[in-house]
Amino acid sequence: MSMREKIFAANWKMNKTVAETEAFFQEFVNYPGVGRGHGVIVFPPATSLAAVRGLVGAMPIRWGAQNMYSKDSGAFTGEISGPMIRELGCSHVLIGHSERREIFRETDEDIREKVKAAHKHGLIPMLCVGETLGERKGGQAADKVVRQLAAALQGVPASEAARTQFAYEPIWAIGTGLNASSADAQEMCGLVRKQLAQLYSGELASGVPVLYGGSVKPENIAEYMLQPDIDGALIGGASLQPSSFLSIIKNAMGSRFSAS
Ligand code: PEP
Repeated sequence: MSMREKIFAANWKMNKTVAETEAFFQEFVNYPGVGRGHGVIVFPPATSLAAVRGLVGAMPIRWGAQNMYSKDSGAFTGEISGPMIRELGCSHVLIGHSERREIFRETDEDIREKVKAAHKHGLIPMLCVGETLGERKGGQAADKVVRQLAAALQGVPASEAARTQFAYEPIWAIGTGLNASSADAQEMCGLVRKQLAQLYSGELASGVPVLYGGSVKPENIAEYMLQPDIDGALIGGASLQPSSFLSIIKNAMGSRFSAS
């Protein structure tokens, strides 16, 4: 297993009101081992970010927004900016989630601008890449991911790329219950690193976190953690209940996790 920090990130998508966010953390504080010896990042809806800041308290948990716009302020009705989420204590921002790309039609160019804006404001972008089922079946998965990475990182200097985190999320596995095999996930996370080595350097490629996402559950996390290029998981559905998110972390960390 590599020396890189293991990271477990919860993407709640458009779920949880402020009251439901409070209920989650009221239960989560019963597990003081969470976030010790590994990284935990929670991505709630933007409406819950201010509450999360207060609820996390002394727990070693970081939080971030699920999206941001690339401009700092102005006539962009409905959008939120880097300075706004920074002010709420966010360390991270999800960029290029497949639901943003597919449903909201975000382009590679939009995503590149967002990656740059995140860095400008001291936020760590967690950049998501991944192929559709058709692309996988057609043997185009690797090409798609290589292209997405190159497009999102064009003009991003090494100093910023080194502070970027990556999530390989095959679209056909997100929210479907059909998780990628650990071998396929390893191959694609390894490919992300190979591409980063080409774009920057081997040292940079081996230093950044690369997560797998797509129907991760307590029952399947352990096999991913055995893979040399997978540093943890970006988790949607199974992160909504504190008990199942905790089980994922426990099953991933094994004896290195202490609940107390
Ligand atoms: C996600 O939303 O990024 C995700 C991986 O969702 P799920 O775990 O539900 O597949």
